[in-house]
Amino acid sequence: MGENAIEIEGLTKTYAASGSQPPKEALKAVDLNIPAGSIFGLLGPNGAGKSTLINILAGLVLKTSGRVQIWGFDQDVNPRQSRASIGVMPQELNIDPFFTPRAALEVQAGLYGVPKSQRVTDKVLKAIGLEDKADAYARNLSGGMRRRLLLGKALVHRPQVLVLDEPTAGVDIELRQMLWANIRRLNEEQGTTIILTTHYLEEAEQMCDEIAIINHGELIARDSTAALVGRMDAKTLVIHPDGDATLPEMPAGVESCQRRDGAFCFTYRRGEIATGAVLEAVRKAGIVIRDVATEEPDLEDVFVALTSDKGKAA
Ligand code: ADP
Ligand code: MG
Repeated sequence: MGENAIEIEGLTKTYAASGSQPPKEALKAVDLNIPAGSIFGLLGPNGAGKSTLINILAGLVLKTSGRVQIWGFDQDVNPRQSRASIGVMPQELNIDPFFTPRAALEVQAGLYGVPKSQRVTDKVLKAIGLEDKADAYARNLSGGMRRRLLLGKALVHRPQVLVLDEPTAGVDIELRQMLWANIRRLNEEQGTTIILTTHYLEEAEQMCDEIAIINHGELIARDSTAALVGRMDAKTLVIHPDGDATLPEMPAGVESCQRRDGAFCFTYRRGEIATGAVLEAVRKAGIVIRDVATEEPDLEDVFVALTSDKGKAA
């Protein structure tokens, strides 16, 4: 195996028209390499094409064109080997309530053609902390346990690459931390390459070595997390003036706007402009400040920044 767990070249997906829906180009010539051994984040707003990309990797959605290589196996040339190299934890909880965790894992292993002698069911049960519940009916498992079982199902064939589609969406903090601990351990102890989608920027920041951002089916950024976060150091200062006031002059590098409620907002890069300088400019204009607040950027701001000309130049 070379350096990349996944190599994607010119990947395009157009969903066919159905009913009144026109055809949808969900992925547009995406090129993306994902290094082996990394924890890689795929970020993007709803409808960006994240699940489409992941489902193509998983073999659940057929690509329209392009090349996909998983663990060195071309999907079209070696479909079986490429499928055996990847495990996917889907976003939805699709667990059969009449199976016990042990049975669910055994069935999944069977689907992947893992011979009985090579099954690692007990190991997986232990890894996901469901040893105690191995023989309980799934309908008696809590939501968190079901989610861990989904993770277990993705692991039965010991894939080199593990893909998680929004693993922590709508999950409470305790379970989220537990899932992440599990996933980190897999990465550290087994060297499993982890690919995940999330819309929690903070989570991606903490977990991922590298991040790709996808928007409208196009890759708009791909960098180490540190470099990307460096680009995302915008900060917005929101100032409510006392009485009527017009937008004051600002130092270069500050973007100003006035909101509907009359508040001024000033956006700038923390690394370049000190908040004190912005406040000073406001005072100099003779504006009395009634209230002041700061806003940290969220993923949406990052998209705006990255898709605007200014963001591209940075
Ligand atoms: P994400 O996971 O980033 O939210 P998706 O990959 O699910 O995005 O969707 C990308 C785009 O493709 C969206 O506009 C979505 O409506 C569309 N889409 C997804 N699945 C289908 C499908 N089976 N048929 C038609 N359009 C689809
Ligand atoms: Mg999705």
